[in-house]
Amino acid sequence: MIDFELSDGDKTLVDEAREQATLARKYARYYDQNENVVPPRELEEAIGRPDPFQQRLEMGDKISGKAIVEALLHMEFFRGDVVPLRVPKISLGNYVLESVGTAEQIERWGKTRIAIGITEPGAGSDPSRISTTAVYDAAKDEWVINGEKIFITYAEDADAVMLFARAKGPDGDVNLTTFLIEKGTPGFEVGPQVKKMGIRAEDTAGLVFQDCRIPAANHVKANFKTVFEVFNFSRPIVAAFGLGTSKALLDFTTEKLAEVGFVPEYGSGTAAQTAVVDRLLDLEAEYEAAWLSVVRAKWMEDTTGGVKVEASSAKAMGGMAARRITQGCLELLGNISLTEGELAEKWFRDARISDIYEGPGEVQRLIIARHLLGYSQKDLR
Ligand SMILES: Cc1cc2nc3c(=O)[nH]c(=O)nc-3n(C[C@H](O)[C@H](O)[C@H](O)COP(=O)(O)OP(=O)(O)OC[C@H]3O[C@@H](n4cnc5c(N)ncnc54)[C@H](O)[C@@H]3O)c2cc1C
Repeated sequence: MIDFELSDGDKTLVDEAREQATLARKYARYYDQNENVVPPRELEEAIGRPDPFQQRLEMGDKISGKAIVEALLHMEFFRGDVVPLRVPKISLGNYVLESVGTAEQIERWGKTRIAIGITEPGAGSDPSRISTTAVYDAAKDEWVINGEKIFITYAEDADAVMLFARAKGPDGDVNLTTFLIEKGTPGFEVGPQVKKMGIRAEDTAGLVFQDCRIPAANHVKANFKTVFEVFNFSRPIVAAFGLGTSKALLDFTTEKLAEVGFVPEYGSGTAAQTAVVDRLLDLEAEYEAAWLSVVRAKWMEDTTGGVKVEASSAKAMGGMAARRITQGCLELLGNISLTEGELAEKWFRDARISDIYEGPGEVQRLIIARHLLGYSQKDLR
């Protein structure tokens, strides 16, 4: 039988995440208005509190699954705001390291925070257009990197970046592959914080590499396929961010409408509701459908070890739902939705990114279409 109930273990972790999110919310406007200030890895309210992300790894069958709970926790943290009490210890570059790094590389860098550097001014949705180069210098057994990356999350705070570059190797072969470049390496500069519409608390900047030399041991040999497999884990999580933010705004809207007498009656049909409540219920339904697509993708990850098209479905649905729910809430709220006295307008701005990064909705729909129709990447792009 399908059981949609959360276990007691899930609930304990989710409740703790919700409490932490509530504590973090007081910083929301500060980091929104001061986007050049990168939040600390741990805010003072985190001291002495458990880390639910870590706890879930030690709870065995008391939880529904590590992947499912990871998504539920992200939803709760982002329901508070984009500033969690603790910034996650690892980033996407760590997943690439874990999936293809050698034992020595994992031992050396596994505990550092590693950003991922793929996007360039001329290469976003289509990474095959990457032009950053890595040229092997046999005399010194080093790689020489030249190029530019833009919009890199944790650019300033990360200890290193996993760079995706076009490499000309010892045999003259040219491949897209990854290199780990530590902060402080000569020739590697981090640009100023990008001025963004939303998620201004999230550290985002560009990276520049000018004759940046790294030892051969920093070549982490991920290829196009292995890099993009990592996104199958993270895409439902990006949807979870967007849905967490949407839920914050949905709850706020429900509360404000109740104050003026618009309260949903769940037992009655649509005809018994006012038009305003009917619209609110539509938004709730969209939230729940997208929530289920995220949890389904993560459940499949827990039970089968990996997903692809389900991750894209969750991302496409979650990103689209986040856009539509936050837009719909602003319409229902009217003028208070636009004042800085409330966080509504901020959540609307914050949620927008979930349908853009890690592949916009259009690209997710292409992946789904290829899967359903049996087309290759070359056939349908
Ligand atoms: C805040 C933020 C953080 C980010 N963090 C990172 C990071 O840590 N590391 C990193 O490498 N990148 C990062 N990115 C970059 C992000 O992944 C890209 O913005 C995203 O992949 C889209 O690429 P693009 O912006 O170049 O858009 P483009 O590729 O130029 O696409 C523009 C639009 O065209 C449409 N489109 C594109 N291709 C197709 C197609 N084949 N069919 C139909 N429609 C299409 C889509 O609607 C898309 O939104 C970040 C971006 C932002 C805004």
